[in-house]
Amino acid sequence: MTARLHVDLDALVANIAQVRATVSPAELMLVVKDDAYGHGLEPVVQTAAAAGVSWFGAFDVRTGCAVRDAVGDDARIFAWIAASRDDLEAAVAGRIDLGIGDADLLEELAEAARDAGAPVRVHLKIDTGLHRNGVRPEQWPAFVSRAAILEADGVIEVAGVWSHIAEASDSEDDDARAVYEWALDQATAAGLRPAMRHLAASAASFARPEFRYDMVRVGAFCYGIRSAGGPSADHLGLRPIGRLDADVVEVGGEYVRIGLGALEGLPSSLQRRATVGTPAGSRALVAIGGTESLVAVWPDAVVGDVVTVYGPGVSGERTATDLAEIIGTIGEEIALRVSPLVERRYTRR
Ligand SMILES: *Cc1c(COP(=O)(O)O)cnc(C)c1O
Repeated sequence: MTARLHVDLDALVANIAQVRATVSPAELMLVVKDDAYGHGLEPVVQTAAAAGVSWFGAFDVRTGCAVRDAVGDDARIFAWIAASRDDLEAAVAGRIDLGIGDADLLEELAEAARDAGAPVRVHLKIDTGLHRNGVRPEQWPAFVSRAAILEADGVIEVAGVWSHIAEASDSEDDDARAVYEWALDQATAAGLRPAMRHLAASAASFARPEFRYDMVRVGAFCYGIRSAGGPSADHLGLRPIGRLDADVVEVGGEYVRIGLGALEGLPSSLQRRATVGTPAGSRALVAIGGTESLVAVWPDAVVGDVVTVYGPGVSGERTATDLAEIIGTIGEEIALRVSPLVERRYTRR
């Protein structure tokens, strides 16, 4: 394997600035799940924190605690997956804001906070139609009433009300937002005053101002990964921060062999369907093996030439989302597949 993922932290900072300028006055929560979409958690969160990002979206509590270790006490860290009592205790100890979409889990969390003698900040989640752990509308009024009691007892602080939307069709998102609005009214009626209302991820945060509320949870766009079927990164004012390169390890008559294959994250379904960037421009990706792949040869190809699978910087470039569209998936999927064994190289001015 000769591959490496170059991560341009200056581009990350520029993207963060662009997202903030676009969604202002709403706050940006930088979503850093899955090792910051494969770019490396620690360098990403430290760079973002230095650029003024104060909210991080961590997915699970373990990742939330890793963000806490990387950025220190001041950051607000939101996690929405807690699997066990240990997780709840770790969240309380790490001062993680927890997304809670289940009445029993709210009780367990309250117990953990009581035992620790420390109130915990929660963001109550309404299921607006995605059916991914949220409280169903029929249970919501009882849920917010109970949360108000626990808040009055000083056990929890209701810091937010949130949901997640599909961002696949405007009309479905509009329906989800109507449910969300209703849920906010119910929370208000129960006496709750959540400071952070958040609903949108990347696509809606740019395209649908009415979805921004107090905060947007953005992952993909901060990494310069555009939506499949959506506007180009350029059009959005964003730059891809990752570039996946591999070296030529052997030159044959028709093909060169590169040191990157399916085991390091190159989807084998791209075989014969994608092109890659070479010093002579774009060339077909002819075969994808386990740890090596074949690319159509170019004149004067030599061992050590660099081939770019995706990312900015060479002729014939493709973005992660361009590759994703060829095989019917999303750019995040391409970025996430890059194996942890592939070296990450960071550049920062
Ligand atoms: C992944 C995720 C996001 C970020 O989505 P992007 O499209 O990458 O911006 C936001 N919210 C939740 C709950 C997520 O799981």
